[in-house]
Amino acid sequence: MSGTYLGMPAFPRAAAAATRDTRLRANLTHATHTIRDKRAAAVAELDDWAQLRAAGAAVKDRTLRHLDHYLEQLEAAVTAAGGQVHWAADADEANALVTRLVRETGEHEVVKVKSMATQEIGLNEALAEAGIRAYETDLAELIVQLGGDLPSHILVPAIHRNRSEIRDIFRREMADWGRPAPEGLSDSPAELAEAARLHLREKFLSAKVAVSGANFMVAETGTLVVVESEGNGRMCLTLPETLISVVGIEKVVPSWRDLEVFLQLLPRSSTAERMNPYTSTWTGTTEGDGPRTFHLVLLDNGRTDTLADTVGRQALRCIRCSACLNVCPVYERAGGHAYGSPYPGPIGAILTPQLRGIEGSLEASLPYASSLCGACYEVCPVAIDIPEVLVHLRERVVQGGPVTRGGSRVVLKPARGHAAERAAMRAATWAFDHPGALRAGERLAARTRRLHPRRLPGPGRAWSRTRDLPAVPAESFRDWWRRTRGEPSEQAGGEA
Ligand code: SF4
Repeated sequence: MSGTYLGMPAFPRAAAAATRDTRLRANLTHATHTIRDKRAAAVAELDDWAQLRAAGAAVKDRTLRHLDHYLEQLEAAVTAAGGQVHWAADADEANALVTRLVRETGEHEVVKVKSMATQEIGLNEALAEAGIRAYETDLAELIVQLGGDLPSHILVPAIHRNRSEIRDIFRREMADWGRPAPEGLSDSPAELAEAARLHLREKFLSAKVAVSGANFMVAETGTLVVVESEGNGRMCLTLPETLISVVGIEKVVPSWRDLEVFLQLLPRSSTAERMNPYTSTWTGTTEGDGPRTFHLVLLDNGRTDTLADTVGRQALRCIRCSACLNVCPVYERAGGHAYGSPYPGPIGAILTPQLRGIEGSLEASLPYASSLCGACYEVCPVAIDIPEVLVHLRERVVQGGPVTRGGSRVVLKPARGHAAERAAMRAATWAFDHPGALRAGERLAARTRRLHPRRLPGPGRAWSRTRDLPAVPAESFRDWWRRTRGEPSEQAGGEA
């Protein structure tokens, strides 16, 4: 596996390969079931979970409605506190900005706090091209980086690896990146964690520049917030001289009172903890305490286009807890890589096509990566109706647009592979508009029902190989109604 998601195949092809990997499926099933059970217990402790969830959704919706106002308030507050704010319209702009900022320090190495925004824009690869090496310091991200791999889960990026695989990666790769793995390293969790701690400690103590994301940004004071479980984030946020934070614009919340809601929702939904072990907050710079220079890069990269879609915009409420991944039957079988972005599972299926657009075959396939069972909506702490957005995006894929790109609406050609579905929908629309023809067709289908094939020919063959086509009844509902109740009146809906 390469270090980038670019050029990955459409979901069905990637998922087909993943479902044949029995070790991957065993790792995923064990991990997701363990996390989901713990989450259910942590959530059940709170009597007011439903109210908290509604409050979280309401705060996010209000913020998104007035996003321009809160971002300007945030910019003013960060600047007043000694930070420097930069705006990046897309991944290229953000990568160029961060590269320039690191170069200006004269350094060739940075340490990183786990950050999905920087994965989204491919920052590590962009820095590498400029001769700057980025060291991931989150344990799971370290495993992924040393393995030349890609994250496959939001919270547990190396969920697809088991302990013996991790031991082999440490033994093989650590020496190339710094302190080698200890002699005779076993696959016990304690030994693996100690090896990572020793390896990373060197980096923390020598790094002059750190790159982070943020879970939240508080507009009223210009404060950024990172929550984590290991403490590595706090080392990165406090020890280096320069801190560069790359954060999606949807991460802003208006006030500390609003933040309180999310600091309850997030830990129980993600790690099943009552509160996060480490919650780091910082506001600009402070003399003699922490980094002397602080840059905030505010990232759009498709977010304002997503905001323009009144159904799809709810995806921007996401607080990246990963609860929806852990209950998703499709994710459990396909794994995270099949989603072709750092956002796997149900949230990836609705976020990636909106951030990147549905023109590509991967992006157009993602809204179909779901059985629409609704388990993701049930567990989402900010009540994102993921099934609703999936259906909405399917409609957009089949209709071929319109979508919003760079603030203007464009109409897309229908995605290839969906032409047949589109033609079928047109035929259905015509039939329902012509009740006489529909009735004649139903009668003909009933009379010839014994001649109907049980399997579809041509492109429908694969679909019907594992499904029984429904049997056509001997009598249509309309005919049954007429026979038993008489002619329907106009008031009762005419032909209905
Ligand atoms: S969509 Fe909801 S459940 Fe899924 S990661 Fe985002 S906040 Fe969590």
